[in-house]
Amino acid sequence: MPCCVIDVMLIDFHTHNNELLKEKSLAKDNSLAIYSHSIGNTIDNGGYISLGLHPWDIVEENIANEISFIKQHVDANNVIYVGECGIDKCYANITPIALQQHIFELHIQISETHSKPLLIHCVRAVNEIINLKKKHKPKQQWIVHGFNNNVSTAKMLVGEGIMLSFGAALLNSNSNARKVIATLYNKSFVLETDGKDTSIYDIYQAAANIRGTTLKEIELTMEQNFERIVGHKINN
Ligand SMILES: [Zn+2]
Repeated sequence: MPCCVIDVMLIDFHTHNNELLKEKSLAKDNSLAIYSHSIGNTIDNGGYISLGLHPWDIVEENIANEISFIKQHVDANNVIYVGECGIDKCYANITPIALQQHIFELHIQISETHSKPLLIHCVRAVNEIINLKKKHKPKQQWIVHGFNNNVSTAKMLVGEGIMLSFGAALLNSNSNARKVIATLYNKSFVLETDGKDTSIYDIYQAAANIRGTTLKEIELTMEQNFERIVGHKINN
């Protein structure tokens, strides 16, 4: 974990790019990343990670081993959330929705049992996610990542206490993400690269511009949201 006091801290709430992790989380641009860790690989204690079985990666014969790997490692201090997990209707022809939902519900149980927030991949499955939230009544924070849906869908999710994570779509001038992030309270959103070929700095700057505020204000908001989601300060 980084221990130094630094002036500017950008938090990338979700990435698949482990370059930052390799540098012990603290990169040259002073960003801190939560890296989506591959199941089965050795857990590196050098940085923040999340653990989960992505709906694209479900292989039926591996499920039991992968879920037990997550349970085995999820209590480590540097595991920030359970995920990326969720439901993707565009993958229904590869993995049936019923199986995707079953795996997602296993993640919900792990998230609740081990008191770690849940990072959600949701493609055309907003109603399913909301129904499962009502069914399980989780205490842990849920975050739908890569949000680029419309304002009314955002309101439905936020109305259920679900946070939204925004990434590269903020850089596209006509994106839904830009319209939505302009409408949200500070406590309802976080920012991410998702490992796309873009910098977290540009995403913070876009969020500040769209919301008519300063980069510093966005940084403070993200630090507060990190602390609220995770339950401790960044440097602990
Ligand atoms: Zn992702």
